[in-house]
Formats: sequence, structure tokens, C-alpha cells
Amino acid sequence: MCGIVGYVGKEECVDILVNALKRLEYRGYDSAGIAVFEKDRLKTVKAKGKISEGLEHLLENVGKPHATSGIGHTRWATHGEPSDVNSHPIGNGRVSIVHNGIIENYRELKDFLTAHGYGFESETDTEAAAKLLDYYYNGDPIEAISRTMKDLEGSYAMEIIFRDRKNCVYAIRKESPLIVGKGDGEGYIASDITAILEHTREYYLLEQNEIAIVSESGIEFVDDHGFPVEKELKTADWDISAAQKGGYEHFMLKEIHEQPQAVRNTVSPRIKDGLPCFDECGLTDDKLAAYDRIFIIGCGSAMHAGMVGKYVIEELARKPVIVDIASEFRYRTPLITDKDLAVIISQSGETADTKAALALANQIGADTLAIVNVVGSSIAREAKMVMYTNAGPEISVCSTKAYVVQTAFMYLLAIKIALANKTIDNQRGMALTKALSDIPEKIGQCIENCREECQYAASRLQNADSLLYIGRGLDYALSMEGSLKLKEISYIHSESYAAGELKHGTISLVETDMPVIAVATQSALLEKTVSNVKEVKSRGAMVIAVARKSTVIDPTCVDYRINLPETEDLFMPLITVVALQMIAYYTAVLKGCDVDMPRNLAKSVTVE
Ligand code: GLU
Repeated sequence: MCGIVGYVGKEECVDILVNALKRLEYRGYDSAGIAVFEKDRLKTVKAKGKISEGLEHLLENVGKPHATSGIGHTRWATHGEPSDVNSHPIGNGRVSIVHNGIIENYRELKDFLTAHGYGFESETDTEAAAKLLDYYYNGDPIEAISRTMKDLEGSYAMEIIFRDRKNCVYAIRKESPLIVGKGDGEGYIASDITAILEHTREYYLLEQNEIAIVSESGIEFVDDHGFPVEKELKTADWDISAAQKGGYEHFMLKEIHEQPQAVRNTVSPRIKDGLPCFDECGLTDDKLAAYDRIFIIGCGSAMHAGMVGKYVIEELARKPVIVDIASEFRYRTPLITDKDLAVIISQSGETADTKAALALANQIGADTLAIVNVVGSSIAREAKMVMYTNAGPEISVCSTKAYVVQTAFMYLLAIKIALANKTIDNQRGMALTKALSDIPEKIGQCIENCREECQYAASRLQNADSLLYIGRGLDYALSMEGSLKLKEISYIHSESYAAGELKHGTISLVETDMPVIAVATQSALLEKTVSNVKEVKSRGAMVIAVARKSTVIDPTCVDYRINLPETEDLFMPLITVVALQMIAYYTAVLKGCDVDMPRNLAKSVTVE
């Protein structure tokens, strides 16, 4: 994780670096720093804490150095606590680096370097790489970087500067992402394009075993033997407004409001003659009919989207679906075969565990389909087939629109598999596709009509220590996501539970005034869910029901309810989740939490 930026150009670079870092802060925010070429030396300014609390204050106090090129980092610590000394850039005045990832063999490198007279100040793995570069550097940067790359094990995106190579920034990567932006007589380096969108939309994707050299004379790429590499210049189709708050108090709220459009962008391009069409990636009906099983693999919210996918695919297509947590899948001996399809879900396309699970599925010979948001990301490139969710950048650490579009994709996939397997006919396929196409409008209604109800529900939750989400079937699959949202941003402990499982243990937690959020949108299961609601109510729970407006629930067993817009049962998760997101959001706001940057977290989990 962590964000990396770099700039070489004609402008004063400190503000450029700090502003770009702020756009990457969602990737890590326990400390931040910059190193720039100030006259004949490398000047480093770095501090613990978020950029606005640490680095910016320090820059005000010590004064902004004057420089036109430098590197910057916002950290998510993996080795060594968040502290001033462990912050990046890390170096020794001759060489300085910023690093995203983990150097796995840092202990051996440190022993080697200590034996050669090097001292170490920080507890980071990164310092071993910085000192190794210094050890190899005899005036030839490419040679030093190549030799260092050969010795490093683990993952890295790294920027390197040498004091005697003024206004020149080198960059390398393995596993962790890095792009090089091309401005007008300027070069940028960043972990992702959102950091530099205000300056340029043109960029190169840096590949493994390549070295980018960004200097006053332009941008060059060489391989690890120093031979030039020709690269394609790409243009991002995201614009800067997508990476700004646009008048909303938080990115999360903005992204909740962007969900109708995001679902449209995911679904509409894949509908042809009223039915899902996957020609773009070669996922044909023949293939879909032939697979024995579908594995859906992801982490966090992406895995939860898969949970909804399991219910919907099994219901419509009668194919067995196995949902796997990527970090579990990769270390089991999974029973996946070359007759199965592995659907790999990741917003960033860089999630380390998901990437490893994909590699394993590829190696075993399964067909692999990536569902990712970031174009050109590692998972997109390594899967046999890819489809993009077109959600635009998601900045808030807490996923909202990315989850919703991944889930919308599950429906497209389910309808398509069902048609290919002839478990539904074209007429039913068209009706389902139409219902899916109408979801954006219903999400919009939910945001408008349920806002105040969700705000009130939040006021009833804000002082809770712990609460339960219960539901059956799709409502249970969805509750997992609702519960994750709440704990992630409001720090209130919560569990999602299959309502029928409660009395096998968990109901003992229920005591007077404990909040229970009962999700009850599935008509066929309503009576059963309401019985479970009565069980918790009679033990003193404060029950908030989340149900369709038209659903009749005995008012004596519910303290408060959220009234959702109507659609077919099967599609209710896509609407219901929006209410659960808003409950989590307003609870976190009432508690004064940092909604977009919750503690201990970072987006784009590129470490396992
Ligand atoms: N492993 C490095 C550290 O702990 C880099 C972490 C990051 O990616 O922010 O400092």
C-alpha cells in the first residue's frame, strides 16, 4: 500500500508533490514525506501522521525548500511503527528512496550491509534497499539499480534519487503499481493516475524489470541491462472531477451518490438486444455451459459481492458456486480444475492475495475472468479474460460504488450463465435484464427517500458498543457487507448473522437495548425472519428493520424501520446495500470519525 509521487519539471515542486500525495492518501496515511533536490543536496522533510497534521505543519515551520524535482510518499507501515524516523523518503544524503511494498529478504541484506560498515536508523525493510543502492552506486545509476533489483526479494514500487544526478528521478516496480505521467516538459511518477490527473492524463505503465528515468531532458525507459525500451503512451479517460469531492463532505458520500451512474456504466455497455453480451472478453455461451463450477474469489467487499453472486447464480443457473476468500484459497490446495471458471474480483486489480489466487487458478488450468475497476492493473492483465466495472476512481477507503458495480456484474453473469445453460428462457432473461437496467433509478430513489430514515437510525446506533445484522438468504449475504461498512468506519463492533443461526449461540449476546438490524427483503423468507426478529425483541433488542415500503411487519417487534423502494426480490440487495451504506456513513459522521480514512486501513491492499 502507500502512495508514491515524483516530479521533474520547471515549477517549484513541493506543493505539486504534497497535493499529489493528498490524492493518494487513501492508500496509506500514517506518515508522509518528501525529498527534493535543493541546490547541491537532497533535502528531506518527513513526519508522522496525516499530511495535514504532520508534513504540512513541518513544512510551514521549517520553510518550503526551493526545488523543481523530488519524490514523495504517504505510508502504510508494514515494518516498524508509524514514526518520524520510519517515514519515507529513506536514505543517507547520497541516495534517497520511497518504497511501496515489502522487502522480504531485508534481514539478510541488513546483515550483509552491516558487515560492510553500514548503520541503520529505522526499523523499516526499506532502509535495506536504500543502503544497498548506496553500496552499489559508483556513479552509474542504472548499474546500481539493476544490481539492487537482482538482490531484492518481495514487492516494490520505488523511486530513487542520487544527490549527484541532479533533477533526475529513477523508478522501478515489482508487483506494486507505478505509472509515469507525461506533462508539457514535465514528468510525473505516481502510484495511480488520480494523483496527477490535474496535470496530465497521459501516462506510461511501468513494467517489471524496467527502469524509468525521468529527467529535465524527458522520460526514458531502459531494461535491467540498460537497453532502451519503447513504450506505449496511454490516455486516462477519468477526469479530475472524478478525483475531487465536488461539494460533498466526504468522498464516501459522493461515491454513494455516484452509484446510479456507476451501475449504468457497468451494465448498459454489456446489454445487446435486451440480453447480457460478453463478446468483449470471449466468454461464450459454449464455455459457460461447459464449466462444472464457478469459483468467485476476492477479499473484503469484493468477496461479499461474490456472496450475493453465489445466491443469484445458483438460483438462476443451477450451477454450483464456491465463494472463496483469496487469502484462504491461495494457501489451501483448492479443488479447482480445468473445467471450472474462477471469477476474480478486485477494485484496484492489485490486491496481493487476490492476485496470488489468480496465479494459482491460472496455474491449475482453470479459466479465469477478472472483474476489476482499474484498467491495465495487474489482475486485469494476468487473467485469461477481463471485464472492467467502469466505476471511475473510488477514493474513500470504505468501498461503496465499487461493491455495487461488482454486485451488479454478478447479476449480468448469473443471467448469462442461466441462458447458456438453458435454465431460463430468453423471455425470462429479458425480464431480468430489464429489472437490472432499472436498478440505477431505484438506487437514486433509495438515496433520496431513505436518507433521513438512515440518519435517524444512525442516531440510535452511535452510542452502541456492539450490534447484530440478521437476515436470511440474499439478505444474509448482503448483511455481511452492511456490517463490514459499519465496523470499518464507525469502529462499532458488529456481526452479520444468518437469522436462523442465532439461536445456536449468538442470541446469548442480546440484552436490553442491543441494536439489531434486521434485513427483510426476501418475501419467501419474510415470515421466518420475522420470527427471529421476535426472538431478539423479546430479549430486549432495539430492532431496526430494513424492508420494502410495502412489506407488512408486526410493528410491536420493530422499533424503527427503513422503507426501501420496490423491485423484484432477487434484485433487492443492490438497493438495500445503499441504505446500509448510509446507516454506516451517518453513524461514523455522528461519532466524529474520519470517514474517508479510517484508522489502521488503506485502500488497495498490495501486501498480503
Ligand atoms: N514496507 C515499507 C515500510 O513499512 C513500505 C510500506 C508502504 O508500502 O507504505 O515502511
